[in-house]
Amino acid sequence: MRSIKEIYKIGKGPSSSHTIGPERAAKLFLKDNQTAERFTVSLFGSLSKTGKGHGTDRVLREVLEPTPTEIIFRTDMPERLTHPNTMKFEAWKGDEVVSKLWVESVGGGDIHVVGEEEDPARIEELEVYPENSLAEIAQQCRLWNCTLAEYVEFNEGEEIWDFLATIWEAMQNSIHEGLNAEGTLPGGLGIARKAKILYENPAPNEVPQVTEVRYVSAYAYAVCEQNADCGTIVTAPTCGACGVLPAVLYYMKDRRHLDERKILESLAVAGLFGNLVKHNASISGAECGCQAEIGTACSMTAAATSHLMGLGMEQIQYAAEIALEHHLGLTCDPICGLVQVPCIERNAVAAMRAINACNLAYFLHDTQRISFDLVVKTMHETGISMNQSFRETSEGGLARMFSRRRPSV
Ligand code: SF4
Repeated sequence: MRSIKEIYKIGKGPSSSHTIGPERAAKLFLKDNQTAERFTVSLFGSLSKTGKGHGTDRVLREVLEPTPTEIIFRTDMPERLTHPNTMKFEAWKGDEVVSKLWVESVGGGDIHVVGEEEDPARIEELEVYPENSLAEIAQQCRLWNCTLAEYVEFNEGEEIWDFLATIWEAMQNSIHEGLNAEGTLPGGLGIARKAKILYENPAPNEVPQVTEVRYVSAYAYAVCEQNADCGTIVTAPTCGACGVLPAVLYYMKDRRHLDERKILESLAVAGLFGNLVKHNASISGAECGCQAEIGTACSMTAAATSHLMGLGMEQIQYAAEIALEHHLGLTCDPICGLVQVPCIERNAVAAMRAINACNLAYFLHDTQRISFDLVVKTMHETGISMNQSFRETSEGGLARMFSRRRPSV
C-alpha cells in the first residue's frame, strides 16, 4: 500500500477529481506540447456533467492559456473508456492533431494516463507499506508492540512528521481564513458563508455540548467554504470532504490543549485509514458516491480522534468502522454541480458523527461484529452497484429534485 502522502494534498478547491486532477493532467500535457497552436480538451462522464459547477473548465484554461483552448463537455461516453472521470487532451497545429493524451482523474487529485504504465521507480518510492488491510496492519503492530502512529513512522521514515506538520499548518490556515471570510459563495446559488456566524454567535445560556457542536461545525464550514470559493485546502481524503478531519482535530487541540505532536500522530493514523479505503475500495464520489468521500473522511476522523483520546487498536478500528458503516449508500448529488449543497453541511454532520463513533467504540468495542476491512469492501460493492445518477453527475437525488423545483440558477 502507498504512502499516506498520497491522501493529503494541498491544493485549490472545489474538487480533487474535478480541479486538482485536471490541473495536474493539463500541466503534464502542456509540458510536452509547448509549441501547440491550440488545445482542445474533451470532458467525459462526471467531469462533463458537473465540470462546469466544479470549475474544471476554469482550471484547465488557467493552465493551458494563453494558447487558445476549447473545452468540450461531451455527453457521449466512448465504450473503451473505463473511468467516469475521463479527459482527452489534443494539441493542434493548423488542422492537424499533433499530440493526444487520455487521462483519468481517479480521485483525491490523482491521475492515470490511459495506456501508460506507472513509472516503476515511482511505484517503488510510493509503495511503502507491505500490509494492505487493517487486519494485516493490526497483526504487524501486535508483533512489533507498537501503536498505529509508530507503525506509520516505521514504514514512512521520520520525515513523515515534517510532511504532516506542513499538512496540519495548511489545514489550520484554511480554518482561520474561512472563519474570517464573509459574503456569498460563487456559482449562482446565492449561498452565504456561515462559518463566522456560527463561530461568533453562541445560543443564550449555551451548554458545553452545544458549544462543541457549534465550534466543530464552524470549523468544518470554514474549510468547506474556502474550498467552495476555490481557496487552498488539504484533501482529506478529497476536496469535497476536506472539512471533517481538520474541524475535529482543531477543536480537540484548541479546547483540550493537546500538543502538536499528538495531532500529527492522529493525522498519521487518519491517513492510514484513508489509504486503506483508497487501496481496497475508492475515495471517489464519481466511482462510489458520497459514502466514498464523506464516509471515508468520517472514518479517518473517528480513527484520529480515538488515537487522540488514547484508545487502543480495537477501539480505533471499531470507531473507524462505525463511521464508515453508517454512511453506506450515501449518494453524491451536489445541486447544480457545485460543491456546496449538500456538501458543506454534510462535512459538519460527519465531523459530529466521527466524535460519536469514537465515543460509542469506547464503550462497546467488545461487541463489534463487522470489521473495518469488511465495511470497506461493502462500501465498494455498494458504490459500484449504485445507479450512475447518484455518482457525481448531478442527475439524481437532491440535485434532480432541486432542478425540477427551480429550473435554472
Ligand atoms: S455530495 Fe459528497 S461526494 Fe458529492 S461532491 Fe459533495 S461532498 Fe463530494
